[in-house]
Amino acid sequence: MQTLNRREFLRAAMLAGCGWPFARYLHAARPPSSCVVVGAGLSGLAAAHHLAKRGWKVTVLEARDRPGGRVSSYRFKQAPELVCEMGGEWIGKDQHHILDLCTEMNVTLEPHAFRLWLLLSGQLKSPGWQFSEPARTGWKKFAAAYKHYGPQEFRRLDNYDWYAWLRKIGFTEDDLRIREIIDSTDIGESMRDASALVEAESYAGSDYMNPDDTDEMDYHVKGGNSRLVDAVIARLPAGTVRLNSPVTGIFERSGMVTMATAQGKFTADACIFAAPSSVIPSIHFDPPLPPAKLEAAEQLEYGRIMKTQVLCSKRFWPAENFALMSDETSHEYFHTTQGQAGPMGILCSYAIGDKADVLAAEDEAGRREQMVRDLLAISPDAANAVVTTHSKAWQNDPWVHGAYAVYHPGQWLTLRPLLQRPHGKVLFAGEHLSEDSQGFMDGAVGTGVAAAKALLG
Ligand SMILES: Cc1cc2nc3c(=O)[nH]c(=O)nc-3n(C[C@H](O)[C@H](O)[C@H](O)COP(=O)(O)OP(=O)(O)OC[C@H]3O[C@@H](n4cnc5c(N)ncnc54)[C@H](O)[C@@H]3O)c2cc1C
Repeated sequence: MQTLNRREFLRAAMLAGCGWPFARYLHAARPPSSCVVVGAGLSGLAAAHHLAKRGWKVTVLEARDRPGGRVSSYRFKQAPELVCEMGGEWIGKDQHHILDLCTEMNVTLEPHAFRLWLLLSGQLKSPGWQFSEPARTGWKKFAAAYKHYGPQEFRRLDNYDWYAWLRKIGFTEDDLRIREIIDSTDIGESMRDASALVEAESYAGSDYMNPDDTDEMDYHVKGGNSRLVDAVIARLPAGTVRLNSPVTGIFERSGMVTMATAQGKFTADACIFAAPSSVIPSIHFDPPLPPAKLEAAEQLEYGRIMKTQVLCSKRFWPAENFALMSDETSHEYFHTTQGQAGPMGILCSYAIGDKADVLAAEDEAGRREQMVRDLLAISPDAANAVVTTHSKAWQNDPWVHGAYAVYHPGQWLTLRPLLQRPHGKVLFAGEHLSEDSQGFMDGAVGTGVAAAKALLG
């Protein structure tokens, strides 16, 4: 039997589902040349840049009072020389969509990889700890077999959650406890909530059993990831991006698309909708979206993630490239200002799921206390070194309702093709639709460029 790799399989499934709606432009009396992009995140900005370079008139409508969406660099006023990220952090060495954009925008990357300490039941383990032998053997066997999987196996995997699948292939309860802490930081929720197909695709080619594997956590934009956002906007014609402009309605009439905002209406030949699918139900589409697409938007969830940046007067942790996975409420810590000039430094706590909700329910003082309590396991110096904290609970963000899309078991092969499908002259882009980099800034850029290319024909 001839087997398809997962990408070929998904592409075939998607094309079967959606046809090629923009072929009609080939026969249009006037070639299309204008587009309104909804959302000034990396996806919308990459799309706008691609079209503007080819002479299209583009307007980007953004709901927030700043561009960048889930990319947002932050500086404490007590230490303005240090930069940290409230949203997207790492860029991977294999993530060619965003790497190409960084090169084009002349943005410099710096190393941002970490070594992993482990804190379980109050016991701190230094890098070098290992998973069990049965887990390592089971993983090796699975990773080898996965290369030969075909459509039937992909469907079977999509119906498993990642936790159940790892248990099935030999992971012990102790391994699963650790994997849950680590993998949930990638997934954005518990690994019991994630499709095993999505996770297998993401991890099968990585050095999964090596706790120090960077797995696309390699770089960071020097000076902050928002520099990339600013660089793209600087290349767009002045006035292209309109802030404080939430789109409330999208109408198609006589071959043109009109976007309604409180600031007025914007009409163009086409629209690229590059906002998260979680906001789709709040937008009035006319003609209406097919019920299945609307339901898919309602069903796709975004993970609960809370980032708390902990500004410290000195770097009391054991190494510049320090990262810690723990069963404490702060969940993960990493030294986000590694490589930036000291002596002050910022540890970022990255809490997922229920832990993110627990921290979000606290005020900033309560979170600071929690962070100090957890950090005392690293060093007694934590008590005096913590200066202040700054947090963002993405699950409470009104323009995403979470951090990044989490495809539950069975949803990757069902929801994603529906969400991807164009609606008349509205194309969809964004991290959640990426085939090869879902959840990442890379996926946002890739889908934005792909939507622009589909318009260009
Ligand atoms: C805490 C956190 C950590 C992350 N870590 C990483 C990481 O390490 N590496 C990585 O690669 N990725 C990471 N990501 C994911 C990455 O940030 C996102 O995948 C990417 O930035 C999404 O870009 P986007 O353009 O698809 O969506 P967004 O950035 O969400 O852009 C969409 C824009 O649409 C706007 N919008 C919404 N509704 C409307 C409306 N009605 N009208 C007009 N505009 C609207 C929003 O305000 C937003 O600006 C992280 C994300 C979070 C939250």
